[in-house]
Amino acid sequence: MSLEMKSECQGCAAPLGWQDEALICSYECSWCRPCADGDGMTCRNCGGELVPRPRRETRPS
Ligand SMILES: [Zn+2]
Ligand SMILES: [Zn+2]
Repeated sequence: MSLEMKSECQGCAAPLGWQDEALICSYECSWCRPCADGDGMTCRNCGGELVPRPRRETRPS
């Protein structure tokens, strides 16, 4: 199962790197925090609930 996420906010096109805070719905729409808050933590595309995206762990080099 692929978990490829969009790398930018669907609302304002802000870049969402793995280290940035981002929120996703169950259909993997991605939103930055200001957009998610502005929409009441609801996905503007599909109406789903937005949850914080887990950050990919970075391994110490
Ligand atoms: Zn945004
Ligand atoms: Zn959505």
